[in-house]
Amino acid sequence: MNREELWQSLLSRLQFQVSNFQFNTWLKHVKISSFDQKKVVLAVNNSFTKEWLEKKYKNLILKNLKEILPDVENVFFEINKEEKTSLSQIPQKKSSPSFQQPNLEIFQKKQKANLNPKYRFSNFVVGSFNELAHAAALAITKKPGQMYNPLFIYGSVGLGKTHLLQAIGNEILENQPELEIKYIPTQVFISQVIQAIKNKSIDELKKKWQQTNVLIVDDIQFLAGKERTQEEFFYLFNFLYENQRQIVLSSDRSPREIPALAERLKSRFEGGLMADISFPDYESRMAILKSKCQEKNIEIPDEILEYIAQNIKKNIRELEGALNFLIFNLSAKKEKMSFNKVKDVLKKIIEKPKKVINAKMIIKEIADFYGLKEKDLFSNCRRQDLLKPRQIAMFFLREELKTSYSAIAKLFGGKDHTTIMHACNKIIKQISENENLKNEINTLKERIFCG
Ligand code: ADP
Ligand code: MG
Repeated sequence: MNREELWQSLLSRLQFQVSNFQFNTWLKHVKISSFDQKKVVLAVNNSFTKEWLEKKYKNLILKNLKEILPDVENVFFEINKEEKTSLSQIPQKKSSPSFQQPNLEIFQKKQKANLNPKYRFSNFVVGSFNELAHAAALAITKKPGQMYNPLFIYGSVGLGKTHLLQAIGNEILENQPELEIKYIPTQVFISQVIQAIKNKSIDELKKKWQQTNVLIVDDIQFLAGKERTQEEFFYLFNFLYENQRQIVLSSDRSPREIPALAERLKSRFEGGLMADISFPDYESRMAILKSKCQEKNIEIPDEILEYIAQNIKKNIRELEGALNFLIFNLSAKKEKMSFNKVKDVLKKIIEKPKKVINAKMIIKEIADFYGLKEKDLFSNCRRQDLLKPRQIAMFFLREELKTSYSAIAKLFGGKDHTTIMHACNKIIKQISENENLKNEINTLKERIFCG
């Protein structure tokens, strides 16, 4: 986070906690002079304001700062001396944007809908890797519930699914504030259902959800294995669908690849439009970096951005993280941004130690993928939803690590080595017959070897 972001974020909070008059008189002109993890220095125009703020607003400001930067312990005030405020040698663009007062009503609606105003279509970079998902997302904002229902967006972690889902919500809310919009991560949905069952208030919860015009559920893969929540979601889905309400879902994989998900949900999820987001190409990575620099109001030489874009390929969150890390490090140390210095700083995140692939991590990936505990893979239980992942684990140990059948047998509780051989052969045979299994194995390989 840079000074500009901190300032915007602080002011947008304070604005709704004091009267307009107080805000305009005392707070609007406050600037961030400098900050680190522990303290923030604010610059004000004159000594009178300084005293007044210290006396009346210090606690409120500190409380809000802590919500943005949890480690902050103190806030200081100083009188503005123009040039002293330059944080670093990173050239900041001259015209700093003015604080835009958001419309209060829309702001509150977004909060209620669980929407973060920072995720917008205007700051979402489009390339061939996410073109379809973007076009579909934009299309449904024009006619919610009437184009693609549900819209199912899937792709690996850090590639912009949440950004796109939130942008859909923000855009619809701005165009049609009268609609009831809700964004919810699947984990939260699950815990609400569990809580409501416990409190015997499931009917109220259902009623609440049935009022939404646009329901956006993020990371739906977490429904795997949650049978009761799946049931509730199925009825909610049908209700909304039949009433032409828009449903938007995201997942880290296609519906077919979500394990332990009821068939009827899989087919519902596939019934609208499915759009995947793949890895961004080099040009898109550069465009994203440039767009982030623009947002942060910072100029970074192309040579440096190219270096980052060449080295971080599979995750936009990491791409952005590298940029933030660089800006933070260089501005904290007030160093000039030479190319060698940059390489030095980025080395820590770019040159990750090579992944060691062993039995333990294969087991962990497979358990995670199927939403199981590692010990479930080693148990003797013959439940179908455990049997398949267990056989796949045996297959991976054999095929990828070349572990002997008897060593695998030992690992899985002293089974006969012919049992293992039989399991591996069964998987090999099924891969050639079953497209879904083939996809699952490929996704697993990608996670194990490239993730
Ligand atoms: P996911 O939900 O797929 O894990 P996120 O939506 O959280 O990924 O994206 C991770 C970060 O990358 C966010 O800060 C987001 O703003 C940024 N990001 C992802 N895709 C884009 C894009 N196409 N343009 C600009 N920023 C993006
Ligand atoms: Mg996400």
